[in-house]
Amino acid sequence: MTKTIKNPESHMMTYGYKPELSEGAIKCPIFQTSTFVFKSAEEGKSFFEIAYGIREKDPTEELGLIYSRINNPNLEILENRLSLWDKADDCAVFESGMSAISTVLLEFLKPGDLLVYSNPTYGGTDHFIQHLLPTLGIHTIGIYTDDTKKSIIKKIRASGHSKRLAMMYVETPANPNNALFDIEMISEIAKEFEANNKKQVVTAVDNTYMGPIWQHPLEIGADLTIYSATKYLGGHSDLIAGAVMGSQELMTRVKVLRTFLGNMISPNTAWLMLRSLETLKLRMDKQCENAKKVAQFLTTHDKVEKVYYLGLLKDGEKGYDIYKKQCTQPGAMISFDIKGKEKDAFNFLNHLKLIKLAVSLGSTESLAQHPSSMTHIGVDPELRNKLNISEKMVRMSIGVENPDDIIEDIKQALEEV
Ligand SMILES: *Cc1c(COP(=O)(O)O)cnc(C)c1O
Repeated sequence: MTKTIKNPESHMMTYGYKPELSEGAIKCPIFQTSTFVFKSAEEGKSFFEIAYGIREKDPTEELGLIYSRINNPNLEILENRLSLWDKADDCAVFESGMSAISTVLLEFLKPGDLLVYSNPTYGGTDHFIQHLLPTLGIHTIGIYTDDTKKSIIKKIRASGHSKRLAMMYVETPANPNNALFDIEMISEIAKEFEANNKKQVVTAVDNTYMGPIWQHPLEIGADLTIYSATKYLGGHSDLIAGAVMGSQELMTRVKVLRTFLGNMISPNTAWLMLRSLETLKLRMDKQCENAKKVAQFLTTHDKVEKVYYLGLLKDGEKGYDIYKKQCTQPGAMISFDIKGKEKDAFNFLNHLKLIKLAVSLGSTESLAQHPSSMTHIGVDPELRNKLNISEKMVRMSIGVENPDDIIEDIKQALEEV
């Protein structure tokens, strides 16, 4: 990166793209091709030697283009630009957030290993951890926001598998209740067990809710940052994609498994993502600014019982210190409890006009949904209770509309409750 240009948003239009390699086109074309022609057999051999780790790359050498499951200009430029936000050595992009998450879990967890994971996690992640990993002989322990460093260490020791601890996986802020986990503390636990057991313990953070603008897990101890790029990164509700970032050593492993699972992003989706990244900072800034106003409005409404928004946390409240330590902004995700029951929450959702009733988040348009009957219906009812995901809760993702219009829409829908 040019040293004088420090802010990632200034690089999103041009970084990593050489117009002279594409007929001078100002924008990177879509390289809709499955394979690439080698100049000579010698060149093909040399590209494969590097791609398959047969020999080390010379410092000046770049991996040549081989085949779009291994590399493609759209995919590579996207990875280079994405790495800038989290100051990561490297990035791998996937065809979905779930493929990014499952590839990380499969690469760093082997039969007999122990995984510690935060609750709640995204429904798909939760299913993978609860139902798929046990079939591979992987042990798991759930942790909660009321767990302390001491209680987590105690749980790991009590599991009988502490010698095989291999990964700490956290999603923070958690979906849909904005519960926070201390990333620094989690990575300290990982490092303690790593030192004692002489076995690598990877700390992975699903940063979808905050990233990559408002929280940088790699800077505070995490080894891998994971995104559902379907959300803020894509930002227009028109694609499904995922990304993982981290050190060269770990990312090489992630990319090798991706090559063999074949779950990389397509050239077309990568191109859409490149277009999205140009406005990422603008969109996220505006969404957050809007969300602050919406959250403030909700606290004043007499049909609203409780608002879950990071920007409303007060000094002394649970999570406040973690928020101050690891987030730069409160984001654009708001959940709230309506006074009443499921039918009142449904009434509200059914009367929204501007805000659309749909799952997903982080897009330019505002969205609302009902976690306990939609995104989190698969979560054990007892656990749902413990996490405040009740039938009164509505989750909203705030978009880039005029905030007055968003608030007006919420106001008129609340009147129908
Ligand atoms: C949406 C989401 C995922 C899954 O991503 P997909 O792109 O839908 O596969 C994972 N984690 C979080 C926090 C999400 O919101």
